[in-house]
Amino acid sequence: MHLDPVPLGTAPTLDDAAAAPPADAPAKQTLRERLATLGARMAALQGALYAEQRRAMLVVLQARDAGGKDGVIRHVFGRLNPMGVEVTSFKAPTPLELSHDFLWRVHHRVPARGIVGVFNRSHFEDVLVVRVHSLVPEQVWGKRYEQINSFERLLADNGVTVLKFCLHISRQEQRRRLLDRLKEPHKNWKFNAGDLKERERWDAYTEAYQDAIGLTSTEWAPWYVVPADLKPLRDVLVAQVVVAVLERMAPQYPAPGPEAEELRRLLEAGG
Ligand code: AMP
Ligand code: MG
Repeated sequence: MHLDPVPLGTAPTLDDAAAAPPADAPAKQTLRERLATLGARMAALQGALYAEQRRAMLVVLQARDAGGKDGVIRHVFGRLNPMGVEVTSFKAPTPLELSHDFLWRVHHRVPARGIVGVFNRSHFEDVLVVRVHSLVPEQVWGKRYEQINSFERLLADNGVTVLKFCLHISRQEQRRRLLDRLKEPHKNWKFNAGDLKERERWDAYTEAYQDAIGLTSTEWAPWYVVPADLKPLRDVLVAQVVVAVLERMAPQYPAPGPEAEELRRLLEAGG
């Protein structure tokens, strides 16, 4: 199984069935081995991206509460050299952030050349939670899809490859994971009473996600919908896309400069 980008203008199906692994999904152990192989390949490509210092990659992770964003960061991106990775978790905006346009805090965290940036939530919250809770009027959030497309185009034109993942879980799976957070002492810290309020708005979020994905899955910044109920499959599917995109980018280690040969001779001669 592998993921294709969502075609622009198509609202993806985000029902419970779309979150489930296919009947013929490999066993967990096989998936773990596959992830290890993909992780090694990803790290090798990242090494060249970092050394080349010409281009960046920005990975946007969006999901409902307990959808697996933190898990993907740890299990997939945790395999990269941390020197070349920057993770940004976007929370409810501060007063300073709110006093600017919605992309201000986001642009600031776009990775520099050579870096893989991972967004744990993103500017898409400004058409998701903001829309579902009417934090700004529709005249304001309604224009943001176009604004996001222009912003991501600017990034793409400036050497930033943008990839967007929606980690899609089913209602039952979210229930299981939220219950786990209440029951397991080492997971309590992740539970937020507000998560249940968001859960009540399940259908409103589904619509907001469908619009966001359908209206912003562009050629230059595509969306991928990941069936995310089975964690090891979710990780493999994300890693496969990242590896395929890095392979297409084909980063190259810089060739030695013209002085390298002479310096080598000097050092070899004991200088
Ligand atoms: P968490 O990811 O669990 O740490 O929660 C972060 C919270 O910040 C979530 O409830 C998000 O909905 C909220 N959040 C992130 N970005 C925004 C935004 N632009 N406007 C309002 N709330 C936001
Ligand atoms: Mg949370």
